[in-house]
Amino acid sequence: MTDNTVQCPFCDTQSKFGVRVCTGCQATIVYGATQTELTNTLKQTAMGVSGVSMLAFFIGPGLLNNQFGWSIEPMFGMGLWSLLIGGALGLWLGFRSRNSLEKSVDGQVRFFRQMANV
Ligand SMILES: [Zn+2]
Repeated sequence: MTDNTVQCPFCDTQSKFGVRVCTGCQATIVYGATQTELTNTLKQTAMGVSGVSMLAFFIGPGLLNNQFGWSIEPMFGMGLWSLLIGGALGLWLGFRSRNSLEKSVDGQVRFFRQMANV
């Protein structure tokens, strides 16, 4: 394999670097991370993190108060700010995981064969 060609792991066909489909078996060729992967990673992480942190804001004080007899204000006294904080935290971590995914597959050429039973 040279810099100008990529070899398909399924059918050993050499394809020109940059083509999106294997000429031998129609496998999809992906260079680096796909836009879908990046977007999904960002969305899932952002939604997961902000969901969990908002949940923590909502139920955290009550749980801690029950458990330890503390008297923390609802939402830690931050009211609507807690929504902003949770959202910002989610976005920040979402972009971080998006970037680390992008770096981890940077320069990689990956082949995906279509499922036969579609
Ligand atoms: Zn192939």
